[in-house]
Amino acid sequence: PHWEKQVRKSTRLSSNSGLTVLVTGAAGFVGTHVSVALKRRGDGVLVLDNFNHYYDVNLKRERQRVLDHVGVFVVEGDINDVALVKKLFDVVYFSHVVHLAAQAGVRYAMQNPGSYVHSNIAGFVNLLEICKSANPQPAIVWASSSSVYGLNSKVPYSEKDRTDRPASLYAATKKAGDEIAHIYNHIYGLSITGLRFFTVYGPWGRPDMAYFFFTRYILKGKTITLFESPDRGSVSRDFTYIDDVVKGCLAALDTAKKSTGSGGKKKGVAQLRVFNLGNTTPVPVSSLVTLLEKLLKVNAKKKVLPLPRNGDVEFTHANISLAQKELGYKPSTDLETGLRKFVRWYSSFYLKKKKKSDW
Ligand code: NAD
Repeated sequence: PHWEKQVRKSTRLSSNSGLTVLVTGAAGFVGTHVSVALKRRGDGVLVLDNFNHYYDVNLKRERQRVLDHVGVFVVEGDINDVALVKKLFDVVYFSHVVHLAAQAGVRYAMQNPGSYVHSNIAGFVNLLEICKSANPQPAIVWASSSSVYGLNSKVPYSEKDRTDRPASLYAATKKAGDEIAHIYNHIYGLSITGLRFFTVYGPWGRPDMAYFFFTRYILKGKTITLFESPDRGSVSRDFTYIDDVVKGCLAALDTAKKSTGSGGKKKGVAQLRVFNLGNTTPVPVSSLVTLLEKLLKVNAKKKVLPLPRNGDVEFTHANISLAQKELGYKPSTDLETGLRKFVRWYSSFYLKKKKKSDW
């Protein structure tokens, strides 16, 4: 492949720390931030992303520019492309894999259910098959989701809570991921850490998420629809700022033990971990809108409807004591501070177009 020669000659994969990390899905929101943070602290970073069209591809290309700028090596391709992923592992020795590539979003499953199965189930299995056969095997950190808690009515959610009542196909595929991770740990000794992110937001975020399109709608004078449940009022979310999530990802990577297997053979018992990475302060979506109105200095047009069965759950709320204890994870950005940073980025990116990068 055309990238192979470049990878072989590139100094971009040289690492001051001894870590060389493959980050999948890093033209995405979380992946861009994680890759920049890894590169900045001296790790070698290679990114694989298929630049799918789920949302604005230009935004992904702009993120790619940021990755190029800081010296991350970007390869365009799909995690289901066995030959490509195998070749990457032949050419580069990866000590760690941060697997973030996925079909995200819950409502899109009604239009394209196959994309969830393709990326979140088949793609994950393909990647693990290749990691399992690598010699030595890389330690893996991957993005599970708070959505696995589904229709659980006990809050806050802790990692031991039931995950057998998903509300969306997206949630079901993430739950399948948890179980697939178990299998590859159990049979092949892969060291795998699952991180359950709770509604991550911030600069360079995802245009399909509420805080992002609410900002767009408010500025354009378009009406926002808020959903309410009959017994609980406004839907609420444990919004978690991107920098806090990045710190959690890096701590998970740094505390990951080496896999015990090599070349597909299990030797001992490797690590299998799952952590909630949330903020522990659920906020009603109606209050999110009030904060955006304040920051944008524009009143929103709103209408309120009963929560339909469209994949969304009524509330999310993380118990993070396990991540606190094992990873030293401590979220430190409140919603207003984080939204202010998002709004600043949004204005420079979409409205003035001059200063495009925070980095
Ligand atoms: P994102 O959509 O911005 O990033 C995912 C990236 O993966 C995209 O750039 C996409 O092009 C790429 N991708 C998708 N399928 C692929 C495939 N088959 N091969 C190669 N690349 C592929 O999403 P994000 O918000 O950055 O989320 C990152 C991860 O975290 C995802 O796994 C997501 O499910 C999970 N997660 C995110 C949140 C959140 O609030 N953002 C919450 C819970 C879990």
